[in-house]
Amino acid sequence: MFTRILIANRGEIACRIIRTARALGVESVAVYSDADAGALHVRMADHAVHIGGAAPADSYLRGDRIIKAALEMGAEAIHPGYGFLSENPDFVAAVEAAGLVFIGPSAEAIRAMGLKDAAKALMEQAGVPVVPGYHGTDQGNALLAGKAAEVGYPVMIKAVAGGGGKGMRLVDTAADFQEALASARAEARTAFGNDAVLIEKYIQHPRHIEVQVFGDGADAVHLFERDCSLQRRHQKVIEEAPAPGMTDAVRAAMGAAAVRAAQAIGYKGAGTVEFIVDGSDGLRVDGFWFMEMNTRLQVEHPVTEAITGVDLVDWQLRVAAGQGLPATQNDLIITGHAFEARLYAEDVAGGFLPATGTLAHLAFPDGVRADSGVETGDKITPFYDPMIAKVITHGPDRDAALGALSRGLGATEVAGTVTNLAFLKALADHAGFRAGNVDTGLIARDIDGLVAQNDAPPEVVAQAVLAAADLGNGPLVGFTLWEPLTRAVDLRLNGEGIAAALMVQAETATVAWGDQSVLVGPNAKMRAHLRHGDQITVFGAPTYVFTIPDPLARAGDAAAGGDRVIAPMPGLVQSVAVAAGDSVAAGDRLCVLEAMKMEYVLRAPRDGVVAEVAAKPGDQVAAGATLVTLEGESEGT
Ligand code: ADP
Ligand code: ADP
Ligand code: MG
Repeated sequence: MFTRILIANRGEIACRIIRTARALGVESVAVYSDADAGALHVRMADHAVHIGGAAPADSYLRGDRIIKAALEMGAEAIHPGYGFLSENPDFVAAVEAAGLVFIGPSAEAIRAMGLKDAAKALMEQAGVPVVPGYHGTDQGNALLAGKAAEVGYPVMIKAVAGGGGKGMRLVDTAADFQEALASARAEARTAFGNDAVLIEKYIQHPRHIEVQVFGDGADAVHLFERDCSLQRRHQKVIEEAPAPGMTDAVRAAMGAAAVRAAQAIGYKGAGTVEFIVDGSDGLRVDGFWFMEMNTRLQVEHPVTEAITGVDLVDWQLRVAAGQGLPATQNDLIITGHAFEARLYAEDVAGGFLPATGTLAHLAFPDGVRADSGVETGDKITPFYDPMIAKVITHGPDRDAALGALSRGLGATEVAGTVTNLAFLKALADHAGFRAGNVDTGLIARDIDGLVAQNDAPPEVVAQAVLAAADLGNGPLVGFTLWEPLTRAVDLRLNGEGIAAALMVQAETATVAWGDQSVLVGPNAKMRAHLRHGDQITVFGAPTYVFTIPDPLARAGDAAAGGDRVIAPMPGLVQSVAVAAGDSVAAGDRLCVLEAMKMEYVLRAPRDGVVAEVAAKPGDQVAAGATLVTLEGESEGT
């Protein structure tokens, strides 16, 4: 085994690799950019080397600097993680030329699978079923249109160099073909510097099922399948293993095809063979086709670890160190079911835009595996993928594992940035998904329901108001006042204002706004919440984030003796005891409000002069309405 390895990556995957290295007694060397100087992977590693600026092109994609760091630190091998340089054959060659071990496949194996067209040709030869279509070198517009017609609409146009869903277009009819071709090519040219495309039959009712393979350069085994059909714009959102509805016969056929694919290129290390599956009528041995092979550890590898008990990074290190495959095919069995949800800092309501922020709080409940590269206090920067964590659950069967995912997401606490947590939880609770009816179109079909924002329940608003008023979290035990305390509290939620009135009397608080009123007694059940900066995050399913507009103005109002006397709840003004210009002393009776069949006497909060009386007997007033204003402290007596 190695003594020391360098990890050419960041975030959760770097942390994930460090953990297994440590368990094997292998020291880790982290690399980091300017933006990551204080990052968790740097804090966790035994050693860390700065390699350049925040932009990936200046750091995590600088193979030369990474190799230099490995040599200087005496590392014997480099683990690339996923993304960045993990599928770059020139980097692999340079690592080996420097006398270091690349923890992964050979440069030739990566090259063979690097372009989708060449990979498909190779797989056809190896007897692996590929999606029907055209993947030739002749790229004329008219020829491609002819091939699309032969394949039969709908078709997929894919960039041969594509990845991450880029350069891909679904075309329904011949009339749309040329326009889609031009836009796929333009996107491919920008993203990959290669505008060659292939044409594929669009598989109806598509499911994405992939097989985890592991090779030692000669032999290969598979570690069963993962279903990654829950996708948004061709990006995986929730993955699971095994695939719902999988049969022994189809699993054996897909596993054998994946192992043939790995063996055809002398594959070494962890890899994934992705298949597109026709899910319109159950799974069939003749109903799956090769799409591409990812020659690296995959983001969703933990669901495979959960059902097999195998630590795939441990296997990667062992095989790279020259040990044989740690298990034979017969040793491998599936136990239970597992799910993974990708938690991102993103603005779901704003169209799933990536978000940034400082994590004021991050906590995961018991009962989940949370793979993360950040902790409370860490920043999500604009430079890298805004993934916060992967939430993984395992259970004896699918229902149990999905129930655990739903509960786990509901109890996950994130504050300081918007996230897709509520969207993930809505997906975990989706009836079709629960029933195992997955296909790649599920999210798009039900997107409105999945992203719907519900109004906050009244108890949650009341809790936020108490938090904004700094009255602590929960039952107001021991909170006693000689006089009832009444305050105006303004909050915003989902872009809408909430003008609330808070009244505290003995151990009870009444929070009222609009036509709502909530009584918070000493034994009220409260959710966990956090106040940070001008935000109040009330955790739960879903989590609500309130903003305190203009906290300074509010603070002034809250100071002993504010200028405004407000209605603590909706009610009827019974009498008014003062007029503009009157001098009052703190505690003087100003007016009487009848609400909820009780009378409330509103008193002057301080000595001063009445500037304005905005209520007269008989008025019906809303909670939070200003009834009497005192002259400002400076102009008052
Ligand atoms: P997976 O199926 O494992 O999610 P993806 O193709 O989505 O595969 O990519 C895995 C990870 O690598 C993602 O976090 C993505 O942000 C990152 N990634 C993908 N392509 C690139 C690239 N060209 N350069 C750097 N990182 C990339
Ligand atoms: P990438 O390199 O971006 O990962 P893939 O070829 O793996 O691209 O395809 C990504 C996703 O696009 C698949 O998971 C699936 O949802 C969809 N897709 C790709 N090819 C087809 C096809 N022929 N028919 C239907 N859906 C497809
Ligand atoms: Mg893919």
